[in-house]
Amino acid sequence: MMNLIDMHCDTIGRLMDAPTEESLAENSLCIDLDGMRRAGTLAQFFACFVNAMAFENEDVHKARPKEISSEAWERAYQAVLAMTDRIEQELNEMIRVALSAEEISKNCRDGVISAVKTVEEGGIINGKLSRIDTLYKAGVRLITLTWNHPNCLGYPNSRERSIMEKGLTSLGCQTVERMNELGMIVDVSHLSDGGFWDCIRISKAPVCASHSNARALCSHPRNLSDYMIRALAEKGGVAGLNFYPAFLTGTDEAVLDDIARHAVYMIQCGGEDVIAIGTDFDGFDNKGRDKWIGHVREMGLVWEAMKNRGITERQLDKIMSGNALRVMREA
Ligand SMILES: [Zn+2]
Repeated sequence: MMNLIDMHCDTIGRLMDAPTEESLAENSLCIDLDGMRRAGTLAQFFACFVNAMAFENEDVHKARPKEISSEAWERAYQAVLAMTDRIEQELNEMIRVALSAEEISKNCRDGVISAVKTVEEGGIINGKLSRIDTLYKAGVRLITLTWNHPNCLGYPNSRERSIMEKGLTSLGCQTVERMNELGMIVDVSHLSDGGFWDCIRISKAPVCASHSNARALCSHPRNLSDYMIRALAEKGGVAGLNFYPAFLTGTDEAVLDDIARHAVYMIQCGGEDVIAIGTDFDGFDNKGRDKWIGHVREMGLVWEAMKNRGITERQLDKIMSGNALRVMREA
């Protein structure tokens, strides 16, 4: 049965850097076609992610400037467009791009996995709101407004309170409005708390935190406070459980039960409609742990761990795909 929607992975970025023989069909990464088939993947969101700082000229890069230059943002934008093309190149009879929840269902009826294009780093619009439309036309259906750098839309999560409290810029607010009009999902993962609350206030559609966990269990600024989980839930949004140990336990180590623990907590906090999956596969080093999931083909281990914590079949259905599908439909 096809019943998994993973709202975040970094596999496409890894493939861009990998040797040419690596493909989505066959690779040494955490997500490949056979693994998705075995996991029962209904839709995989593929993030076109850029660290814009890495696009600075080398001398600037070494100096670690506070602000990223316009030239670097332009190069990062081009890199994202190349990644959206790369997704197209990886398609075959087993996997197609989906532009809507309806297309996901249609692909499913055809026995085909859906690929959903997303962008992680909204700063690549570099002041140009029209680029949101360009990205939409390229098939992008979700944008993570910031990564870990300040950008033209807002500020990133931070342990520094003065940054964490900062909200969206006026362009950031306009971007949320434009994304609402187009039907793109606004993703608040990585965003400052101030930016999060602006999105909750401004967005007309449900908002998602595609790959963030519960701050009460793991006090990392990338995770969501109880208030934030409840606000997401009240807006009909979701938080995708992130498998990165640093966001589960705050250390390099985690076990399957840590994923289940965060799931149970989020249900207690925001209800069973707020939780989804955002593995972050290929966004962190995922090898060599015991009692852990090293590859998408092993997703069954995660569901077992959740059942062991008392999560019901109905809740599991919602976590696996039901809640993410709802957010796509209502975007
Ligand atoms: Zn991320």
